[in-house]
Amino acid sequence: MHILLTIFLLLLPPIALADGLPDLGDLSQVDFSPALEQRTGDMIMRDIRLYEPGYIDDPEINGYLNRLGLRLLAKSNAPRQDFDFFALRDPSLNAFAMPGGYIGVHTGLITATHSESELASVLAHEISHVTQHHLARQISSQAQGQLPMLLALAVAILASRSNSDLAQGALMTGQAASIQHQLNYSRDFEREADRLGLQLLEDAGFDVRAMVDFFERLQKYGRLYESNAPGYLRTHPLTSERIADMANRIHARPYRQVTDSLEYQLVRSKLRASEGSPQDAVTEFSTQIREHKYSNEIAARYGLAAALLRTQDYSKAEQEIARLRTLKASSPMIESLAADLRKKQHDLPAALKLLRAARTHYPQERSIAYSLADTLLTANQATEALQFVQDDLQDYPHDARMFGLLARTYAVLGNPLQQHRAQAEAYALQGQLLPAIEQLQLAQKLGDHDYFEQSKVDARLRELKQQHAEEMKETKGK
Ligand SMILES: [Zn+2]
Repeated sequence: MHILLTIFLLLLPPIALADGLPDLGDLSQVDFSPALEQRTGDMIMRDIRLYEPGYIDDPEINGYLNRLGLRLLAKSNAPRQDFDFFALRDPSLNAFAMPGGYIGVHTGLITATHSESELASVLAHEISHVTQHHLARQISSQAQGQLPMLLALAVAILASRSNSDLAQGALMTGQAASIQHQLNYSRDFEREADRLGLQLLEDAGFDVRAMVDFFERLQKYGRLYESNAPGYLRTHPLTSERIADMANRIHARPYRQVTDSLEYQLVRSKLRASEGSPQDAVTEFSTQIREHKYSNEIAARYGLAAALLRTQDYSKAEQEIARLRTLKASSPMIESLAADLRKKQHDLPAALKLLRAARTHYPQERSIAYSLADTLLTANQATEALQFVQDDLQDYPHDARMFGLLARTYAVLGNPLQQHRAQAEAYALQGQLLPAIEQLQLAQKLGDHDYFEQSKVDARLRELKQQHAEEMKETKGK
């Protein structure tokens, strides 16, 4: 709900304030061009990263969701567009699509799925809302006449923006609830997302029955807790009719046995291991293993090891990781966990050895690259870290997190000019232009550097200021 409202805050200024107060008669003409959708989505995502406490900044989990999304899109002839999948820590069963191809999935939904095909079916449904521009179409068709109220609410919330309690209060009002209602997708859009989602699922080789199975379970769950139905049911009205439609479509499909990827199993274990009290998590995985009640032993032992790290029971965690080795488990997530354990045990050389080997084995795994850079810095090997981070940025020049690590490296090396420059790029890549500009101004003030470096700072500062001015012009009207 919080996020849906944010969508309005961000959608409103460019539309409503572009020419002062809007002419309501023209609102139906408002065209959500793909460029406007993208910019809106970028802004919302920036806010989620900054202010949403549930946002999980975990390259393993988000990396997995993105790979799963790519698997769904690889064989489809859906219009080409960029997607960005991310997880929010929230026990409710929900997923949502935002303008610009940003798709959020609640952790509760990920852990509630029984198979990777079930998770894929939810992503496929959301992807279809995006490719069909349902959100933009919904707003264009329904916001008419609601605009003065929306504007008033937007202003109230903007005013209380820095105070999240106040914003939450505003969200509780009936007005907000009614806006939320407006944003619920129409049944036609739901049916279209189901139909196209099923197609994506089938083309990508997943089990199409999973969509029906999962939605049936969701519906049952919704009946049980009627007043507190899972969020997914509220934003995507699920009817028996929809489920019957889907069941009809897959009726003639042959049964297809699809094996879950190890990564799917590990991600679910990682989420479960990080929730609730550490001791409860240990007990849950221990019981699963003792009673052989797991779908995958590697994932259960990985979960136990991760939970044991939380209870600081390092020797037992070590035993579990040793067992994982005997099971011939191969995954960058396991190597990361093994390295984390060594770091907790203050054995940095062993952690580095694991991470270097993992880097060779999984050269494209971003979480390993981040962890290696971070561990080199912790081990006071800043010169080596600098070499590594610079090489990596050659291949990933738009990686904000790696620029953050570059800034940290320069800080350790006592080079504030390059530190501010790197930090500026980290901010700029996340769409935070003002903090980026501030970093470059700090670099300028240092003043005692050679002309060449200083002029690079000046040039980049001019660029970012211009970019910022253009952004302001777009949102504040011409
Ligand atoms: Zn939907």
